[in-house]
Amino acid sequence: MKIFTTRQEVAQYFTHKTGKTVGFVATMGALHNGHISLIKQAQQVCDEVVCSIFVNPTQFNDPKDLEKYPRPIATDIAMLEQAGCDILFNPLVSEMYDDNEKWHLNIGELEHLLEGKFRPGHYQGVMQVVNKLFNIIKPDVAFFGQKDYQQFMVISKMVELMQMPVKLIMCPIERETDGLAMSSRNVHLTADDRQHALILSKTLSWVKANFNSDNIPQLQQQAEAMINTEPGIVLEYFEIVDGDTLFPATHQTQKVVALVAARAGKTRLIDNMLIV
Ligand code: AMP
Repeated sequence: MKIFTTRQEVAQYFTHKTGKTVGFVATMGALHNGHISLIKQAQQVCDEVVCSIFVNPTQFNDPKDLEKYPRPIATDIAMLEQAGCDILFNPLVSEMYDDNEKWHLNIGELEHLLEGKFRPGHYQGVMQVVNKLFNIIKPDVAFFGQKDYQQFMVISKMVELMQMPVKLIMCPIERETDGLAMSSRNVHLTADDRQHALILSKTLSWVKANFNSDNIPQLQQQAEAMINTEPGIVLEYFEIVDGDTLFPATHQTQKVVALVAARAGKTRLIDNMLIV
């Protein structure tokens, strides 16, 4: 695997490579099988696969979260080598940002719903870095996880508004055998937190199994109650929404998605499930 740390190295490499399709997986490292599943999917679709590892400061609204974000770069490199990834782009913050750089793209309500309510500014930071990464790597296809469902919609909106020549593919959520969605933040969970955190995927599955479009508000209340009664878990939101707009699902909604965010001890977790 080639490892590049500067934009120039990436640009130079791609000037000599024509005619190959490039697949791209953007990550913040602390890789797990969820990330590797994106690499594998990219390998199925594209000739060459680039993965980026960059803990993007502008998308963190909590400085403590940024500081304690895991950065096991040697293990990450070994996992990418093992997966057969072709190129790793692993820049420093100074390579990606000038001082006091400004970014804002109006994507309407999408930015302020769900995650947006609890993480103000987060999606502007996500768009800022993904826009840069797309401009540096110029992928034909970029792969993102359903785990960050709203993020996928935000990036799709940016690509549409900025008319960027990249196709986006959403890949399924990889879970541990007990249902916990894989996440880089799971390493922060204590054994107790981890046990209690299972209520998130259990509640999502329960909603899916009991879904009836006649009583969505009651179902949502029951789901909230299930999570609120779990010790050690503090619910931020559980919402049953239209998967195309993220507005509350109604009787007519064709694509229903349930999304949840909660704290397990000190760790913030998100998860979601396609309901219909
Ligand atoms: P992150 O490193 O958390 O920024 O995630 C990088 C990419 O991996 C994003 O597109 C995520 O949606 C995706 N991802 C994270 N966790 C999972 C998972 N459990 N299953 C599938 N994709 C995931």
